[in-house]
Amino acid sequence: MLGSVARKLRIFGFDTLYIAHADDSEILKIGVDQRRVILTADKELFKRIVKADAAGVLVSGVSELEDLVHILSKNGITSLGEQGIGSRCSMCNGLLEDRRPDQVRENIPLKVTVNHAKFFQCADCGKVYWEGSHLRRIRALIKSVDSRLARAAATT
Ligand SMILES: [Zn+2]
Repeated sequence: MLGSVARKLRIFGFDTLYIAHADDSEILKIGVDQRRVILTADKELFKRIVKADAAGVLVSGVSELEDLVHILSKNGITSLGEQGIGSRCSMCNGLLEDRRPDQVRENIPLKVTVNHAKFFQCADCGKVYWEGSHLRRIRALIKSVDSRLARAAATT
C-alpha cells in the first residue's frame, strides 16, 4: 500500500527501503539496526515501534499527498525544494549517476536520445532516466507538498 509513497520519497532523494513481505519483528529490527524511520499504516506495528522507542510514523494511507506531507513534517522537514531530486532510483533506491547520450543509447528508444541530452543511470539496477514529462509532474507534486508543509509549519 505504501509502495507508491516509497517511490516518491526516493524521487525526492530520501534513502528509502520498501519491505512488502516481512513480519513486524523483522521490520522493527531493520528499522532499529539501520537507524531508519519506519513508515507504516499498521496500528499494531506502530504501537510496537513506540514501545521499542524506535523512530516511526503512522500514516493513514488514504491520500498519497497527505501521507507525504505528514511523513515529512513528522521528521522536521519544512521544505523539499529541488535538492536531492532525481538522485535515487525510484525502483530500487540505488544512486543515480550522470550519463552521456552515447552511454545509454542501447538502453532507451532512439527518439529519446534524439530529444534529450542529460541522462542518469541507476548504479544498482541499470535503469536509465532522463528529464521529461515525469519530472515535470514530480516538480508539480513537490510544489503542492511544499505549500502544504509551509501551511502546516505556520499553524503549529
Ligand atoms: Zn535502480
